[in-house]
Amino acid sequence: MANYISDSSKSRWMVSNPKRLTRTGMDGKPFRCPFCEGNEGDTPPEVYRVGPGQQDKPGWQIRVVPNLFPITDIHEVVIHSPSHEENFVDFSTEHIELIIKTYIDRFNALKDKGKVYIFHNFSLASGASLIHPHSQISVVPNDIPTNTIVVQPIVNIVEQNDCFVSYCPDYSEWSYEIWIKALGQFKFGESTNIQINKLAVILQSAINKLKKIHDNNPHYAKKPFGYNFYIYPYENFYLRIIPRFMERAGFELSTGIMVNSVDPKKAEEDLKKA
Ligand SMILES: [Zn+2]
Repeated sequence: MANYISDSSKSRWMVSNPKRLTRTGMDGKPFRCPFCEGNEGDTPPEVYRVGPGQQDKPGWQIRVVPNLFPITDIHEVVIHSPSHEENFVDFSTEHIELIIKTYIDRFNALKDKGKVYIFHNFSLASGASLIHPHSQISVVPNDIPTNTIVVQPIVNIVEQNDCFVSYCPDYSEWSYEIWIKALGQFKFGESTNIQINKLAVILQSAINKLKKIHDNNPHYAKKPFGYNFYIYPYENFYLRIIPRFMERAGFELSTGIMVNSVDPKKAEEDLKKA
């Protein structure tokens, strides 16, 4: 069971879950990737699948399984593909569309159970505990306060298509963070195929640009390329990509004030060129 604990002012919350203590690789046994094709039996039974084949057997393109080491009581893993290495910079647009469609279908299946968070940690620099690219969908009970940042005004536009815009908000807590927001009013859970296509295209482009910024900067390139993104799937939904080019340190931890050494206007200019 997830154990939610507030601080004495009831304004800050943490969660602990004893099931996370024995995460993969922490038990000393030889490592075998549970997300690779052929190892389906190493995960809990799948709850959703894209592609041919029988449940929990090879043939899939995308699998969704309960997280064996959950943070929250409902916590799923979206395995992006059978490939142990390929991810958003490598996938076809069609495959990224399938991943987004999976997010939407799982959001719609879970939205009555609490607040749904969809997120992706890429590379060990971003907190991922398994290399094989995957996203996670976590449901926080409605009575636990969360502190997700509200959508920020559109400024410093990097790219735009018929349905989405990517931009660097003036309030950017991380260097080169990119937000993707829908143009016009539609709900994430009701996105059409065209909207899913446009989101796939702008998302891949944004990640490609961040990779170029990383690879061309000797300081950033000392660490592997890593980022997190999350989707806030409710009113005014947005997707926020946070590259992990820098670490958080004592000032941020003590004050709660984030330090960003790259002006968002410069981030926009660099990203446009990348
Ligand atoms: Zn794998």
